Amino acid sequence: MMFDQLTEAISSIAKQLGPKQKITEASVKPALRGVRRALLDADVNVNVADTLIDGVKSRSLGKEVMEGVTAEQQFIKAMYDELLDMMGGDSATAKSTQQTYKPAATLAFTKDKPTVVLLAGLQGAGKTTAAGKLALYLKEREVDYDAVNPEDDQETQLASKLPKRQRKVLLVAADVYRPAAIKQLEILGESIQVDVFSKGTDANPVDIAREALQKAANEGYDTVLVDTAGRQIIDKDLMTELKRIKETVKPDETLLVVDAMTGQEAASLTAAFDSAVGITGAILTKMDGDSRGGAAVSVRGVSGKPIKFVGTGEKTADLEPFYPDRMASRILGMGDVVSLVEKAAAEVSDKEAAEMQKKMLEARFDFDDFVKQSKLVSKMGNLAGVAKMMPGMAGQLNMNKMREVEARLKKNEAMINSMTKTERAEPELLINHPTARSRITRITKGSGNDFEDGLQFMSEFQRMRTMMSRMQKQMGGPEAMEAAM
Ligand code: GDP
Repeated sequence: MMFDQLTEAISSIAKQLGPKQKITEASVKPALRGVRRALLDADVNVNVADTLIDGVKSRSLGKEVMEGVTAEQQFIKAMYDELLDMMGGDSATAKSTQQTYKPAATLAFTKDKPTVVLLAGLQGAGKTTAAGKLALYLKEREVDYDAVNPEDDQETQLASKLPKRQRKVLLVAADVYRPAAIKQLEILGESIQVDVFSKGTDANPVDIAREALQKAANEGYDTVLVDTAGRQIIDKDLMTELKRIKETVKPDETLLVVDAMTGQEAASLTAAFDSAVGITGAILTKMDGDSRGGAAVSVRGVSGKPIKFVGTGEKTADLEPFYPDRMASRILGMGDVVSLVEKAAAEVSDKEAAEMQKKMLEARFDFDDFVKQSKLVSKMGNLAGVAKMMPGMAGQLNMNKMREVEARLKKNEAMINSMTKTERAEPELLINHPTARSRITRITKGSGNDFEDGLQFMSEFQRMRTMMSRMQKQMGGPEAMEAAM
């Protein structure tokens, strides 16, 4: 897993500082040396590592002793602040290590003309994939921060319904040197239902881009994503062509797609592209791979340009805005609850969530809802994976227990699949009904389970419902609950 080694190293080094209240020059020295080594092992650029170390040193030495704070915690906090600033966050305005809902770098949005985004990158970095991912993100998931109600507290904003911008996107296939790239983009576009503008491999990329822009303006697209040619190495021709396209379309954003697996190479590449053509930020791909984290930490420090998005898998949905604060938490092993909540929230549509909540409050929650909820858990990954993202859980996971729960969820789901439609909608038939025993017998047999498993599930389910209805009474019913929200 990404960062595991770095996280472990930092955590064990910090522990050595122990519970002493004040960090001294003598005690911090070996810790800093250890962290520097861990950063370099994670393929963090050496200048970035040294800047980080200097920052951590001055932050932790200069600090007043705080009541109830150990040297270890002080050190971790100093690390957090330095990492945050290095990756484009702002530790001075961040209230605490509490995570924010807004990424440090957002994508330009022009109101009076289509926003133009140029995508550049080396072959294999994931540029074409990123074009498709970004198109889908802008079409469906981009938060319209201008429309967020600043009066809402952070929790409200996270819990729900951040307003979406939902752009109308035109993808432009301007990589004419790799014939497969055009096809790949067309297929991607079709799968996410985003229009793709292409003119085959004979057209000139500059002309393609110009025509695409015209089309966008004529047909009411608000965002144009141009997939430019990738090359194996940085060469003059590539840069010249990129510059010409840039001059022609005057992009609002030029994003370089770089591969996280290349470590600090990704950072020097970003710097090189920036000095040659000028870029506004980077998309860091393959963050799901076992890269050691050097790229995420180094890109901004080396190039001065922020990472705007990260690619976290091969599917088109696997793109997320880059949050320096969450990344810093993750590197330090403090968990990433916010991503977890967001991931969950994106999976259940608002409507479904509201309906589910209403049912819970009215104790109408049935087996179909149960399945939906279990699916939600499995969409987020396995339970163990989910728990790992919770703060404090990572170190004390009881894997056996987790597996047990997962196995039981699977069993329950199999039983629900053996129920009739009526039984799923009317759990009473299986709980307080003359035919309950025979029904449970049929269901457990049909799903390859023991009768005892069936009884256990029913009693669990009933407990859940009772809990929900008690909650409802305490809160004074769904109306009161809604009014309070
Ligand atoms: P391009 O040459 O830069 O256009 O690269 P492609 O978009 O064709 O991607 C190259 C390979 O990387 C493909 O096999 C993609 O599926 C894969 N890829 C792209 N982004 C990611 C990512 O975020 N995670 C993983 N695991 N694979 C990715």
